[in-house]
Amino acid sequence: MTFKQEIERRRTFGIISHPDAGKTTLTEKLLLFGGAIQEAGAVKNNKIKKTATSDFMEIERQRGISVATSVLAFNYKGKKINILDTPGHKDFAEDTFRTLTAVDSVIVVIDVAKGVEEQTVKLVEVCRMRKIPILVFINKMDREGQDAFDLLDELEQKLGLSVTPLSFPIGMGYDFKGIYNIFEKNINLFSGDSKKNIEETIAFDDVTNPELDKIIGSKAATELRENLELVWGVYPSFDKELYLKGEQQPVFFGSALNNFGVRELLDCFIQIAPTPRSKNAEERLVAANEKEMTGFVFKIHANMDPKHRDRLAFIKIVSGTFERNKPYLHVRNGKNLKFSSPNAFFAEKKEIVDISYPGDIVGLHDTGNFKIGDTLTEGESLHYKGIPSFSPEHFRYINNADPMKSKQLNKGIDQLMDEGVAQLFTLELNGRKVIGTVGALQFEVIQYRLEHEYGAKCSYENFNVHKACWVGTENRKTDEFKEFERVKQKFLAKDKKGQLVFLADSQFSLQMTQQKYPSVKFHFTSEFE
Ligand code: GDP
Repeated sequence: MTFKQEIERRRTFGIISHPDAGKTTLTEKLLLFGGAIQEAGAVKNNKIKKTATSDFMEIERQRGISVATSVLAFNYKGKKINILDTPGHKDFAEDTFRTLTAVDSVIVVIDVAKGVEEQTVKLVEVCRMRKIPILVFINKMDREGQDAFDLLDELEQKLGLSVTPLSFPIGMGYDFKGIYNIFEKNINLFSGDSKKNIEETIAFDDVTNPELDKIIGSKAATELRENLELVWGVYPSFDKELYLKGEQQPVFFGSALNNFGVRELLDCFIQIAPTPRSKNAEERLVAANEKEMTGFVFKIHANMDPKHRDRLAFIKIVSGTFERNKPYLHVRNGKNLKFSSPNAFFAEKKEIVDISYPGDIVGLHDTGNFKIGDTLTEGESLHYKGIPSFSPEHFRYINNADPMKSKQLNKGIDQLMDEGVAQLFTLELNGRKVIGTVGALQFEVIQYRLEHEYGAKCSYENFNVHKACWVGTENRKTDEFKEFERVKQKFLAKDKKGQLVFLADSQFSLQMTQQKYPSVKFHFTSEFE
């Protein structure tokens, strides 16, 4: 196969949803189609289950499982599909945001009864900001849920999407008879038999055909005709270009658990979903079909085995081919690095690969060279954009609890921050360190890992912060800025990159500060220029 063909057959995407909407179940069914697994139940559920927060070993063990499921690759109808795992648990939302920088498109799973939920809103917002093409799968049609049109409205209202249904349900819950596939113009009848992998599909170009009444009954047939009329009247027809630009979102209905409507989703997906896209670096736009290898680190995973301190850095290949034992430039530290055992990930195993293509993810063993966002090239100085930090939700001072081990503590904190476990802020006033996390459980994970991996002890102290705001760099010479710095000195810190951050202690004080110093710009993510 040529380089061009290898690129064109790749589809790298993430499945995002609120926990329990059916992401794991859908992933598993997709893998079944690829023959990647023999039976359902093989995909490890990598959800972080609710445990007592003190049980951090259990949390880490569960997180460890997700290494195996970080990337699931399989072949289907000649296409190479890479599914990137995105943790649904809100404490790991940062992981998911970062993973979204490595996908070329996403499938959003919605629970028909619950509709659009909180996590979905946040994740879709990030996708929309980045113009990532989105396909929606409305799941659990075998259950009673909301009316299909109400759900479509909700997708538009709450997620700001511009939807076009590519399938439409016939009945729902107890009365669920199947779906009309608008994309392929056929009907799939639902048997309710989850073991059946192949559904009964009946071609139906023309739904006015009286045969329809015989197959699904005249009441259901009349209803379907009316519904489709409404769909065609109200929603724009599918436009692949708009979908690829992130301006239109096709919607499918089905039931992942019953493996119903999943084949339709996958068949449409491989036809319309983008091949590896070009990516913006600070210097220029890099196209997938460029000959020279470029890629970036979007995730780092620590080895769960304390005897093996190495980590696994996940690289998304943006252009060129990544080859085993070939030297690549680590742009940030200027070193040339060779990798003797790059890993590729399949449904149930990881394997050493000699060559990987744009769209692929390779896992590299790392002893501390990589940070999230690092770029590898064949010599060009490139910096990929697009891994912003968001304001953490929880903040605490971190103190050294064993003065003999301050070196170990600092190294541990540094490396954990590079992995993206949490964010570090150093106060301008006194140099004290503050850790910010998305979920409260990260504090315990950090404490545990510092002790077990670095032999250091830490303690925490509460620090009341409502939000971290990155301070704009323009107008720093003005009197107003100088006054702001002087008055708010107690609340100013530097992040790991040395950017100035204002740690507002309440929404009120943030508003007051914004009013008082109108020329100082506050940003809610670290990437604003
Ligand atoms: P995740 O948290 O998004 O990964 O959700 P899971 O895939 O673990 O599914 C959550 C629960 O919903 C599980 O108990 C599934 O068996 C169930 N589920 C998933 N898909 C369906 C479906 O199509 N119909 C019904 N009735 N239940 C489903």
